[in-house]
Amino acid sequence: MAQLIDGKLISQQIKDELKEEVAQFKAEGIDICLAVIQVGSDPASSVYVRNKKKACAYIGGVESRSYELPEETSEEELIKLVEELNADESVNGILVQLPVPDHIDEDKIIRTISPDKDVDGFHPVSVGRLWIGEKGFLSCTPAGIIQLLKRSNISIEGKECVIIGRSNIVGKPMAALLLRENGTVTVAHSRTKDLKEVAKRADILIVAIGKERFITSEYIKEGAVVIDVGMHRDEANHLCGDIDFADVEPHSSAITPVPGGVGPMTIAMLMNNCVETVRK
Ligand code: NAP
Repeated sequence: MAQLIDGKLISQQIKDELKEEVAQFKAEGIDICLAVIQVGSDPASSVYVRNKKKACAYIGGVESRSYELPEETSEEELIKLVEELNADESVNGILVQLPVPDHIDEDKIIRTISPDKDVDGFHPVSVGRLWIGEKGFLSCTPAGIIQLLKRSNISIEGKECVIIGRSNIVGKPMAALLLRENGTVTVAHSRTKDLKEVAKRADILIVAIGKERFITSEYIKEGAVVIDVGMHRDEANHLCGDIDFADVEPHSSAITPVPGGVGPMTIAMLMNNCVETVRK
């Protein structure tokens, strides 16, 4: 049977470590404040924002300052708020919950956030730092996956790592992080030929395509480590990933479940980035 990579447990360990670190900062008189901006009331975004605030409260010492703006907020108004928060010395991190409504240019908003407060790690400066190996904020989901592997004693060095998906928030930063850990990295996408053959090269397969139970055992090399980033609700209203867990699990050596795998790690790593603002 495959080793189940327990994201719930590992994210809890990380949050507990951060809690101790934050208590020390607090004792030294150092406060941490995360500004969380939500435009509109998309229910999924509201759940994410609530969970982020809950994580701040759990860690203690991280104040979350909420900005709940109406759907009709203009791009100029949002930019003005972000600029004010950039200039506000009591704010350490700024997070704009994505997606923003269609009339607002998401890239423009991301570029407005100061790279020094970019706790999501989406600013081009953060992305550039990641690729050239400089210290900076790491995109939370891929950073969480590296922690899942390391804390499950799965070595990356020298391994064939295949990522399916090349988004800016998962696939691309994942590739940079695995390279940094000395993996041999292939990034596959919707135009990749012979996807099954490419995926079957992987010692470590990371799937972030956004298609319910798409990856079956036909894509898996016997004994591979399989990481599922996908998050869906199936017809029966059950949470599931991009991987057909029941089919793939017997062929893997270690695998993440959905829920309880990658998902909880994203928020833990966001909290890590908040603490990083005062570590520097
Ligand atoms: P995205 O921006 O939609 O990107 C999907 C990627 O998958 C694209 O690069 C696309 O290729 C590729 N793709 C789509 N269909 C494919 C196919 N049939 N064969 C090969 N590649 C294919 O998605 P994302 O934002 O990275 O998210 C992916 C999934 O992860 C979603 O289910 C999302 O909900 C989930 N997610 C979870 C977390 C978490 O914290 N657990 C965080 C982020 C995302 P092209 O570039 O060629 O179009």
